Amino acid sequence: MKIVIVYDNVATDPFKSGWGFSCYIKEKQILFDTGDNGRALLHNMELLGIDPMEIKKIVLSHDHFDHSGGLKSLLEINRDIEVFVPEGFSRFKLRGIRNYRIVVDPLEISNGCIVSGGIDKHKFEQFLMLRTAKGIAIITGCAHPGLDNILGFAERFGKVHAVIGGFHGFRDIHLLEGIDLVVPCHCTKYKKEIMEMDNSKSCQVGKEIVLE
Ligand SMILES: [Zn+2]
Ligand SMILES: [Zn+2]
Repeated sequence: MKIVIVYDNVATDPFKSGWGFSCYIKEKQILFDTGDNGRALLHNMELLGIDPMEIKKIVLSHDHFDHSGGLKSLLEINRDIEVFVPEGFSRFKLRGIRNYRIVVDPLEISNGCIVSGGIDKHKFEQFLMLRTAKGIAIITGCAHPGLDNILGFAERFGKVHAVIGGFHGFRDIHLLEGIDLVVPCHCTKYKKEIMEMDNSKSCQVGKEIVLE
């Protein structure tokens, strides 16, 4: 399974950077988050050969603008996309989305792709889990519920193989030690420290992550 970073705070020419995160799982036609700027998102998608018409599902981690801001531009092109949001997602921001589903409990939206829904008392952010031969790959937006809580939740589904996305203020770096692949993106505050680990890889727009 291949994951492509479509939107991130870090990008080099000709890609556009922006505050936010988005990545695409081509094999499943699932987009995770949409960055904060639809024009930049569409620009990067075009360069990466991703046609908005091919996208079947969008998983939004939470309603903050840096994750949901690009949604409108995509839905203007493809209104059929099914959008998965957590329980605590702003009802105001759901207006104008024709085809959405509120995820309460973990939901398998495609073979081996599980949307967590809000975890424990954190109902406003969810993450995505991909089953791979080597374990669970976590894709996280901002990790507001705490990456430690996200890791703990994902462990119910199997050994955590990879974790990709925004880790926010997460600083218990030793918790990442047993994981095969760590890709800190977007809002990760302690990126420099995490990048010193042998199992980490850098994140930027256009980067492809291959999961076996
Ligand atoms: Zn956020
Ligand atoms: Zn964010």
